Amino acid sequence: ANKVMDKLVSLAKRRGFIFQSSEIYGGINSCYDYGPLGVEMKKNIKELWWKSMVYERDDIEGLDASILMHPKVWEASGHVAGFSDPLVDCKVCKTRFRADQVDLEKPCPVCGNRDSFTEIRQFNLMFKTFMGPVEDSANVVFLRPETAQGIYVNFHNVREAARKKLPFGIAQIGKAFRNEITPGNFIFRTREFEQMEMQYFVKPGEDEKWFEYWKEQRMKWYQRLGLKQEKLRFHQHAPDELAHYAKAAFDIEYEFPFGWNEIEGIHNRTDFDLSRHQEFSGKDLRYFDDQTKERFIPYIIETSVGCDRTLLTCLVDAYTEEEERVVLKLAPAIAPIKAAVLPLVKRDGMPEIAKQIVDDLRGDYRIFYDDAGSIGRRYRRMDEAGTPFCVTVDSQTLEDQTVTVRERDSMQQERVHIKEVKTYLDERLKA
Ligand code: ATP
Repeated sequence: ANKVMDKLVSLAKRRGFIFQSSEIYGGINSCYDYGPLGVEMKKNIKELWWKSMVYERDDIEGLDASILMHPKVWEASGHVAGFSDPLVDCKVCKTRFRADQVDLEKPCPVCGNRDSFTEIRQFNLMFKTFMGPVEDSANVVFLRPETAQGIYVNFHNVREAARKKLPFGIAQIGKAFRNEITPGNFIFRTREFEQMEMQYFVKPGEDEKWFEYWKEQRMKWYQRLGLKQEKLRFHQHAPDELAHYAKAAFDIEYEFPFGWNEIEGIHNRTDFDLSRHQEFSGKDLRYFDDQTKERFIPYIIETSVGCDRTLLTCLVDAYTEEEERVVLKLAPAIAPIKAAVLPLVKRDGMPEIAKQIVDDLRGDYRIFYDDAGSIGRRYRRMDEAGTPFCVTVDSQTLEDQTVTVRERDSMQQERVHIKEVKTYLDERLKA
């Protein structure tokens, strides 16, 4: 199964989706850089999420909070006390494990020695750094391990500025950092990653209804991303799996080549977060319902997904080996390049016509011009990049102003008039 992952990692590098960070220095564990295609794809995923969460609704507002926050935030949130994983080391080979991922009764899975594990220690996953020139405990700040807290502390700011009444939500996309003990599986689990989170504030008592609503909405989003239905499922957290803040939690899971794993969490966080911030900040974080004249702390339904993990999921889902080609069957909305324009040969004015078509399209789409090598080779390159359409200028174009448009998955070709190419793409690229 992990052969597929190896092939995907190498395709991702070859085509410029994802590179290892600081590669010329030998790389740095679990850090990755997005190349020309990766950055486009990631941007497309974020835009599609933002569109579905913010633009297509009138009850959600956006926010971009800072990564560094007041240290008390992390005391209130419970992260200082509780955001830790159990850690053990092998005394012989020095390999470090998450204690819940190895059987401590058995020999070390790396060196095979018996009884070689240390005691279990709790390891806090937050990255610590110092603010200002003095490196002492008074100046410790944390890199946020989730974007959610930036939303909670801005609850009243956003509510007042946007004049919102319950229920309403706040959406945010941004980096988060966790000093994971066992990062891995390419970009599935890294120490620096981007989250797309939405916190929906509701009246207590209406939380269960909204929890169900968001479960359904979020599953629909993955269908919109074009993921295979049979690879998606819900996993309900059992009582002993529930985080300290949660009354109910469901993960959306995807079946990766390395097994079923979480891609998104949907949590009923109750009034835990706002109550704690009220307690720690001493500010009144209650909401006043002007109809019932009641004052209360709202409940929060959270939807939280990693952008990088979504990108990996889309790549895995799209990766297809056919007899004569490898093709990424990405949904057009997230494909990095929307169309390639290819002159069949580099003469008879074909490159000029092709470049004119590129100029006409580039205001609206990421377009790629390619005149190097045989047409078959150029199609294959675009198949690997997941480009949904290839527009080819050939000798017939010189006679009747039509071009060939080849669709990536079916490889079907159609003749389309040059003037119609833009409309043709518009109709097919809509998300
Ligand atoms: P896990 O148990 O897999 O470490 P979690 O349950 O701690 O994840 P949440 O805190 O619910 O994850 O985070 C919400 C989402 O953020 C996850 O579903 C995932 O998509 C993403 N995410 C969390 N940690 C990482 C990470 N280290 N690397 C990449 N994405 C992550």
